[in-house]
Amino acid sequence: MDNKLLVLIINDMVIFPNNEVRIEYDNFYDKQMIDIVDRIEDNLMLIVNPIDENNINVTSFPKYGVLGRLKLKMSVPNGKTRIVIEGIERVEISSFEEDGNFYRANYSNVEIIENEDTKNYFNILIKSLENYIAKVPYMGNAIMSQLNEIDGLSDLCDLIVSFLPLKYEDKKKYVTTISAIERCKFLIADMNRDLKFVALEQKIEAEVEKEINDTQKEYFLREKINLMQKEIGDEKSKDTEVERLFKKVNRLKCSAKIKEKIKREIDRYDSLNSNSPELGMIRDYLDWMVNLPWNNYTKDTEDLVKVKSILDSSHYALEEAKDRILEYLAVKQNTNNLRSPIICLVGPPGVGKTSLALSIAKSLNRKTAKISVGGINDEAEIVGHRRTYIGANPGRIIQGIRKAGTTNPVFIIDEIDKMTKDIKGDPASSLLEVLDPEQNNKFSDHYIEEEFDLSKVMFIATANYVEQIPYELRDRLEIINISSYTEYEKLDIAKKHLIPVELEEHGLTSLQVQIDDGAIMTLIRNYTKEAGVRELGRIIATLFRKIVKKLLLNKDEMFYKIDDKMIEDLLGKKKYFYMETLEKDEVGVVNGMAYTVFGGDVLPIEATLFKGKGNLTLTGSLGEVMQESCHIALDYVKANMDEFKIDNKVFEENDIHIHVPEGAVNKDGPSAGVTITTTLISLFTNRKVDKTVAMTGEITLRGRVLGIGGLKEKVIGAHRAGIKKVFIPLENEKDLDEIPKEIKKDIKFITVNNYFEIYNYLFVGGDK
Ligand code: ADP
Repeated sequence: MDNKLLVLIINDMVIFPNNEVRIEYDNFYDKQMIDIVDRIEDNLMLIVNPIDENNINVTSFPKYGVLGRLKLKMSVPNGKTRIVIEGIERVEISSFEEDGNFYRANYSNVEIIENEDTKNYFNILIKSLENYIAKVPYMGNAIMSQLNEIDGLSDLCDLIVSFLPLKYEDKKKYVTTISAIERCKFLIADMNRDLKFVALEQKIEAEVEKEINDTQKEYFLREKINLMQKEIGDEKSKDTEVERLFKKVNRLKCSAKIKEKIKREIDRYDSLNSNSPELGMIRDYLDWMVNLPWNNYTKDTEDLVKVKSILDSSHYALEEAKDRILEYLAVKQNTNNLRSPIICLVGPPGVGKTSLALSIAKSLNRKTAKISVGGINDEAEIVGHRRTYIGANPGRIIQGIRKAGTTNPVFIIDEIDKMTKDIKGDPASSLLEVLDPEQNNKFSDHYIEEEFDLSKVMFIATANYVEQIPYELRDRLEIINISSYTEYEKLDIAKKHLIPVELEEHGLTSLQVQIDDGAIMTLIRNYTKEAGVRELGRIIATLFRKIVKKLLLNKDEMFYKIDDKMIEDLLGKKKYFYMETLEKDEVGVVNGMAYTVFGGDVLPIEATLFKGKGNLTLTGSLGEVMQESCHIALDYVKANMDEFKIDNKVFEENDIHIHVPEGAVNKDGPSAGVTITTTLISLFTNRKVDKTVAMTGEITLRGRVLGIGGLKEKVIGAHRAGIKKVFIPLENEKDLDEIPKEIKKDIKFITVNNYFEIYNYLFVGGDK
């Protein structure tokens, strides 16, 4: 039976029976044709791949095509038409003819034979397919799920070919070959060709990779050889090196065992080929071994008077630390017990911890080593890496000892409170081994491998906060606290230490510059803000630098007296201001006392009332603890309002607002308890509080006044602000010993145990 259908010419893809494709057209003729297929031709068409795409005419069409059905047609936004065509079956084309702009073809159905033979081929093809999928990396196995629906060889071939990554030209023959067995053979051949190609590809890849590896390896080795040769020269210089090492080890003051070990390593070094990668590693190791001070002591100064005078001349005050050193020396002389104490100087920055440790070394005539353990989180930093580790080195302790060059240096370990702990280990526990007098005569660094005696080392650790020193370490240390300096102490340090040192540094004499106490005080109060004197030293240096310049530029002026005005001229406007006491006594304002990292200051706490329903508003720099203190104070006042003679309507009809000015440190929280309480009572009873009174203390709900920290600093701050009377918790009475005399004579201290003592004093009538 002959049929006629419009011909859809496709020249870049192949549509097989049982196969659906999606095509997009923007070509007018194709669109027109699809329109006709859609409207007139019952959605049927003949799909044909021309023999020669460049020369399409009735003679250039093949003998077979595929009958196709238009399944979907839609316009898409880019002006194109999208269609989905389903291939139905192969057909034989008997003739083509032109039909207007299009071609029509006469076609007839072809019979596809399926028999025993095709069944065998079917099974062979499935096997080949499985093998192909297994071996070709870019072939997914999605096709396998569709195999169930296939029952004839022809369909199987059509399915497989639509999945195969074949070129268009190669695919065309699968349409025009009617025999399923033929197509099956084509498929097996095509798959085999692909498999060979894949195998070849893999082989080439492996070879290339190997080649790259080999070249890399070679390059790497060459580099290494180059480096080593550079390092050791040639074989000849290796010989001299070995000779030099032997000489050095013979002269080395160390135990026979260590000597033996070093010699063995030198032998190993000698026996290695100069291209051996181990050579550099052993050389480094030997370098460490022959340069460590295994047995090289300095002799301590025994003259205690001399030691004391050196310490006194370098550092003002710091009596406790100095005493401890003198005690150590005294005991050592008396008993000949050499075991050193492990001192830990704790205090804020710039109070002289490190410089005192250095000066202890100087006074004892010891060498120094200094390391910082701040921020380290890896125990290898302390005990070194094993030698097998690439780039291994000894830990910081051994490094410090080598730098010091003696077995008994003063070893300063800075920032012992700033170590961290993580998966790399706990450096604190390694440090414990270093510092433990029971174990440290046999300190074992992972790199050095031999025991090193640290028991004669005088370790001095430094820290800012004692609480942050790992507990197990704290236990072993003799903590010596160095608190912040008062202004008077700073003045003394400046006069006796910083100014003379800086004068000398700048080549100046006191005949050329003078600076009076008032001016120094201005520098301390208005140009620095610190617990120690580091900034002060720096600012004095700046001042002197500018004076030197003046002296050189203006030769007529031979002498400069530094006063406040000159300071402002040279250093610019004042930078820091401290709280001054209030101008007059006021209701609802009371002086608290703050302890900051920069020292102490007064902290006036204010409260106001306004119409409301008893709500509490808190503003200012209030940390959580301080907010809690405000609530405790308010509840305590409410609970005792009868005793305090407060009308309870105050709470019902008003909102309360408490404000703490900037500058207070959040962590200083609870010690403002008594101040907040007093502020509230003053506010609720409308009575003024003396502006020259300040107070500090934590308050409990029952009115007990608890101890606080930083009394010395707080009192110094209060004194500077002109405070005359200070309430302190009874618990802190002992700390009064630390307060400088000059301050004690200006301030009256009243110790209290219960808040009522403050209340009675201020509001009922103490000895004002
Ligand atoms: P820290 O180690 O506590 O941070 P430093 O030891 O580095 O402080 O001291 C900072 C500077 O202050 C040093 O120049 C030091 O000489 C000086 N200094 C600190 N305290 C004193 C003091 N009591 N007497 C003399 N100089 C001091």
